[in-house]
Amino acid sequence: MRDIGEYDHRSIESKYSKKWVEEAIYHTKDIKKDLRFSIVIPPPNVTGSLHMGHALNVTLQDIICRWQRMLGKSVVWVPGFDHAGIATQYVVDKKLQGEGKNRLDMGREKFLKEVWTWVPISRNSIKEQLERIGVSVDWKRERFTLDEGFSRAVRYAFRKLYEDGLIYRSEYIINWCPRDLTALSDLEVEHEEEEGKLYYIKYPLEDNSGYITVATTRPETMLGDTAVAVHPDDERYRHLIGKRVKLPLVNWKRRSMSGEEVSAYIPVIADQSVLSEFGTGAVKITPAHDPNDFEIGRRHNLPFVKVMDEHARMNENAGEFAGLDRYQAREIILQKLSELGLLEKIEQHRHAVGKCYRCKTTVEPMVSLQWFVKVSDPRIKDGAVNVVKEGKIRFVPEGWKKTYLQWMENLKDWCISRQIWWGHRIPVWYCKSCGRENVFTDDDFDRVYDKIIFNLIADGKIGYEFTPEEVESILHSPSFTHPNITLLEFYKKYAFHKYHSTEVDANSLRLFFSQDLNPMAMLTEKKSRYRYDPRYKKYRFILRCKHCGHEELEQDSDVLDTWFSSALWPFGVFGWPEKTQDLEKLYPTDLLVTGFDIIFFWVARMIMMGTYLMEDIPFSDVYIHALVRDEKGQKMSKTKGNVIDPLDMVERYGADALRFTLAILTQQGRDIKLSEKRFEGYRHFANKLWNAGRFILMNLDGDLLQNLPYGAPPKSEDLWILTKLNRTAQKVNKALSEYEFSEASQALYEFVWGEFCDWYLEMSKLRLYAKADESLPEEERQKQETKIKAERITAQATLLSVFDRILKLLHPFMPYVTQELYSNLPTSYEENISLTEFPLYNPQEVYPDAEEKVERLKGIVSSIRSLRSDLKIEPSKRIRLYYRASQSEKLVEEFRQHLLNLARLEDLQRVDQRPSNALAGFYGDFEFFIPVEEGIKVTELLNSYTKRHQEVLRSLESVERKLKNEEFLKKAPKEEIEKAERMKEELIAEKKKLEELIVLLQEVKPAGASQ
Ligand SMILES: [Zn+2]
Ligand SMILES: [Zn+2]
Repeated sequence: MRDIGEYDHRSIESKYSKKWVEEAIYHTKDIKKDLRFSIVIPPPNVTGSLHMGHALNVTLQDIICRWQRMLGKSVVWVPGFDHAGIATQYVVDKKLQGEGKNRLDMGREKFLKEVWTWVPISRNSIKEQLERIGVSVDWKRERFTLDEGFSRAVRYAFRKLYEDGLIYRSEYIINWCPRDLTALSDLEVEHEEEEGKLYYIKYPLEDNSGYITVATTRPETMLGDTAVAVHPDDERYRHLIGKRVKLPLVNWKRRSMSGEEVSAYIPVIADQSVLSEFGTGAVKITPAHDPNDFEIGRRHNLPFVKVMDEHARMNENAGEFAGLDRYQAREIILQKLSELGLLEKIEQHRHAVGKCYRCKTTVEPMVSLQWFVKVSDPRIKDGAVNVVKEGKIRFVPEGWKKTYLQWMENLKDWCISRQIWWGHRIPVWYCKSCGRENVFTDDDFDRVYDKIIFNLIADGKIGYEFTPEEVESILHSPSFTHPNITLLEFYKKYAFHKYHSTEVDANSLRLFFSQDLNPMAMLTEKKSRYRYDPRYKKYRFILRCKHCGHEELEQDSDVLDTWFSSALWPFGVFGWPEKTQDLEKLYPTDLLVTGFDIIFFWVARMIMMGTYLMEDIPFSDVYIHALVRDEKGQKMSKTKGNVIDPLDMVERYGADALRFTLAILTQQGRDIKLSEKRFEGYRHFANKLWNAGRFILMNLDGDLLQNLPYGAPPKSEDLWILTKLNRTAQKVNKALSEYEFSEASQALYEFVWGEFCDWYLEMSKLRLYAKADESLPEEERQKQETKIKAERITAQATLLSVFDRILKLLHPFMPYVTQELYSNLPTSYEENISLTEFPLYNPQEVYPDAEEKVERLKGIVSSIRSLRSDLKIEPSKRIRLYYRASQSEKLVEEFRQHLLNLARLEDLQRVDQRPSNALAGFYGDFEFFIPVEEGIKVTELLNSYTKRHQEVLRSLESVERKLKNEEFLKKAPKEEIEKAERMKEELIAEKKKLEELIVLLQEVKPAGASQ
C-alpha cells in the first residue's frame, strides 16, 4: 500500500530525459548483425529550433525504435545534424549585419570562424529539444554533415564520381539567386503564377524592308540577344530566315563569354522548338539568360552575351544601361523603345515566375561555370530506378513509388556547386601552370601525418603554412561533434581507425616535417612534402599538380550543395569510406522516416549515391509521413500566427501527451490537423493511466508476490481482461509492423481507457474491498476470510500482470509516464522498461467463453445506464430493477454483484410478467424494467422530449432544404457541405431515438398529462 501522488509530467520527464542520455542506455555496443535494426535520423538543420514537423518525424521513428528494441533487436538509431549551407550562412550573415558587420569585408576565413562559434549553440539547443521529446537515439554515434569524418567522405565521393566521369564542370544555364548570390538547383526554385506583362518589340530588318516583332516578358534581356528564331514551317516568316535584324538601342560593343566581339546585327534562324502560337511566333534568343534560348544557342552555335552581373545589375555589355538594376533597366528600355516607336504593344500576361525557395527573390537564369553530377547517366540512374521498381526499397504509403519513378524518368543533371562559403569546399585544385583540374583526397598521401595535415588544410582548419604547435593544439582540442574526445581521437574513430595507435604532438610533427628537409630527401625534390620558412618559423605543405608537377595550385572557391553530403548520410555516419564494423553491420539501414517534401532533394539522392557508391540500397523501407497543419487544415506559418510550438506543448501537457497525440493522428496519406485541444485531450489519457497505476499500487498487498501460489482460481473477468490484453497486443504489433501508427495508438487507447480502467478496475473493486461478515461465528468467519484473501490475491495479481504489460505496450508511445509507473511496480525486474520484452499475442491466454460473457454483461450494463440517463435518473442514485431473461439467466447469477455495482442497483429482481407502471429496455434476451416510482418525472420528460422532437424536425427540414439547394452545393466549400451532411445524419439518429423514448413514456403516461 503506497501512494505515488498526483501525475506531474514535468518532474518525471526532466528526471528521465537527462538520465537516459547520461547513462547512454540507447548506445548499442555489441551488434548482432542478424538481429539488428538500424536507422539514421533525418539530420535537422543547425539553424533555428524544432518545429512540429520535426516532433512528428522523431516521434514516429522513436516509436518504431523502442518497439524494435523491446522485440530484442540490436537497435542503432544514429542522430546528427545538417550544416545546411545557404540557410546557415544566411542566418549568421543576418546576425552579423545586426552587429554592424559585413561578411564581404570580413573575408571567408573570419566569417567561417563566426559560423563555427554560432553553430554549436544552435545545435545544442536542438539537441536538448530532442532529448526532451524523449528520442532513444544513440548519442555516442552522433554525426554532423560537416564534421572531419564527413568532410573526408565528401571528398572521397566527389573524387570517385569525378574519376568515373560522373562529375563534370560546364558552362550551363542555371538558376541564379541575385540576393543569395548563388546558383540554385532546379528543385530550389519555386514557380509561382504571377500577373505579368508581355511586351511586343519591333526589330528592324537590316535591309530596312520592315520589322520582325518579338514578344518577351523580360525586355531587359534583349541587350543580350544574339538571334531571332521562328519555326521552320511558319509561312509568315519563311522568307526572312537567313536575313539579319538590327537589335534596337544597342550601339556599343558587346562581348561574348569567350571574349569575341558580337555584332548588334543578329540573324533570323529557324528552330523546331519555337512555338508559332506564342506571341507573334518570332522569339528573341538570349542564350546567356534563358534556359530554352541556351539550348537553341548551343544548337545553332550562337554567341553567348551576358548582360547582368551576379546582383542582377546590368553589366558593361548593357552599354548605357550598365550599373542599373534589372527592373530599372527594364523601365528605361521600354521608355526608349516607345520613343523610337519600336514598342508595338503591351499585353497582360499570366505566367509562372521562378523564385528562390529561401528568399523568394525572382531567380535570374544565367550562364555560368558550374559543377554537375551526371545523375542522368545510366550508371547512376538505372540502379536507383531498379531498386525501387524491383521492390528492394519499399515506399509506405505505396503511392509515393509512382511519384519517385516519374521524377527519375525525367532526371536532369544535378548542379552541385554553390557560390557560398559555409559548406564542403569543392575538392578541386586548378593548376596555374597547365590549367588542369586536380582532385585530391588523403589517398594521395602515404604517410598518416601527411593525411592528417592534408585533411586539416582541406577542411580549412589550418592554412597551407602552419607551425607544429598549431597542429598539435588543434588536434588535441575537443572534437566539434563529440566534445568529450579530442579531434585526433575523433579522426581515429571515424577516419583513420587503422592508425589507432598514432600519437601526434608538436615534437613528433617537427621531426616528421624535417625528414623532408634533410639533404637526401631534398635530392628527390618531388618527394618532399614540406618546406620550412625560417622567416615565419612555419612549415609549408606542398600540393603538386598531378599533370605537370607544378606547385602553384588554387582550390575552387565554391562549396558543394548541402544535399551532396546529405546524400551520403546513411553510410557516411558509419565511417565510410573506411570499412568499419559499424558500416559492415549496420548498412543498409532498415527504415527511413521523412516528409514528402524532400523525396527528390534527399531520398532520391541517397538512393542514387547508396546504390552507386555502396552498391547496395541505403534503406529498405521509406515511410513518408504527412504534413502537420492547423485545425482548419492550413499550413502552419509564423505570418499566419497559427504555429503550435512542440516545446510549448511539452511544457504544458508533457512529451508523452505530445507524442501520443501525434501518433494517434498519423494516418497514412492524410495530413494531420492539429489544435492545442488535442494535446490537452491526450494529457487526460496520460493522467488516466497514472491514476490507474496509483489505484493499483495503493491496493497491492506488500506480500503479494510471495502469496501468489495461494490465489483463488481466476474469475471470468480476469480471463476476459487477459483475452482483451492479448488481442490488443496482437493489434499493436501488427499495426506497427505496417507503420499504422494511428491504429496502434487507437487500439491502446481503447483498451486502456475503455476496457481496463472503465470496466476491469471497477469490477476488481469487489474483491479488493471485500470484507468478512463480522456477525458470523469465529470459525466460519475465518473460513470466509481465507476465501476473500485468496480472491484478493488473484485480483491483485491480474491487475498487476495486465498493468505491467499495458505499460510495456504503451512505452514506445509514452516513454516517460510508463517508465515512472513501471519503476514503482513490484515486478520491475529491469531498471529500464525500454529494455524489457514487448508483449506479444499469446494464444494460451485467450478465453473466448469468458470474453463472450463479459461482453454481454457490459452490453446489459450499458443498456441500463443509457435508459437511466434518458430518464434523467441521477447517476449516483441506487434503483430497483426488474428483469426477465432466458439464456442470460446464468449470466445474471454469475455477475449479480457486478450488475448491482455497475448499474447502481439497490435490488435486482426476476419477474415473469412485465410489471405495470415501469419503463422497459432490453439487451438481447435480457429485458429490464425501471419502476416509475424510482423518481421518473414522466410528464416532464414527455414534454421535454416532445419539444425537442419538434425542434429536431425543424432543424432536419432546414438542413435537408439546404442540401437540396443547387446554389449552396455549387458555391459552398467542401467542408461546409460535409458539415451539413453530418448534421443531417445526427438529426435523423436523434429523431429516431426521441420517437422511441416518447413511445416508451406514453405507455406509462399518468392520466391527464398533456400531449
Ligand atoms: Zn535567394
Ligand atoms: Zn599543372
